[in-house]
Amino acid sequence: MEKLRERIIKDGIVKKGNVLKVDSFVNHQLDVKLIYEMAFEWKQRFASKPINKILTIEASGIGIASIVALVFDCPLLFAKKSESINVDGEMFVTKVESFTHQKMYNVMVSKKYLSSTDRVLIIDDFLANGCALEGLIDLCEQANAQVEGIGIVIEKGFQSGGQRIREKGYALESLAIIEQMDDETGEIKFRK
Ligand code: 5GP
Repeated sequence: MEKLRERIIKDGIVKKGNVLKVDSFVNHQLDVKLIYEMAFEWKQRFASKPINKILTIEASGIGIASIVALVFDCPLLFAKKSESINVDGEMFVTKVESFTHQKMYNVMVSKKYLSSTDRVLIIDDFLANGCALEGLIDLCEQANAQVEGIGIVIEKGFQSGGQRIREKGYALESLAIIEQMDDETGEIKFRK
């Protein structure tokens, strides 16, 4: 998506440790109009899919995914993170390693809100090593919900997640794929 790539070039800041900061329009302050346009882009790309639920993970996925849910006219469900839990049988639970904080979290959704009737579009801000996505996919599998597609705002194509998820056969649509980024020069190169 050209407009998103231009915005990343203009406002993205490359940090050490392969981290891209996009706090001015995605991760802290939100450019709601741009996100609305991204939601329409996914609506087109997934036009053939019978999506009836949007799933994301807290926290930064929620703002994006809520606009996507509005455009798809379906509910948004966000998986909750917690370092400790009492498993009471009411929740589907999986473990995810956080890329940005480098620790393990339990990630969970209530069994009330995810089931075999759900045709899910998973939405997240970044795809790096794919742990967050694999956790969300695992929750869908536990619920026998069908993953119809995955929409990512920024995929870091030089990390392993995208390739692994595509090899598993998921319809993964990343709106910008970064091929290379340099924390010294700040240069960002995209996949065509
Ligand atoms: P993964 O699980 O694919 O390794 O990492 C995905 C999660 O880590 C995303 O939900 C996002 O919150 C965070 N993340 C990964 N890479 C970046 C990055 O370069 N910048 C920002 N802001 N978040 C990232």
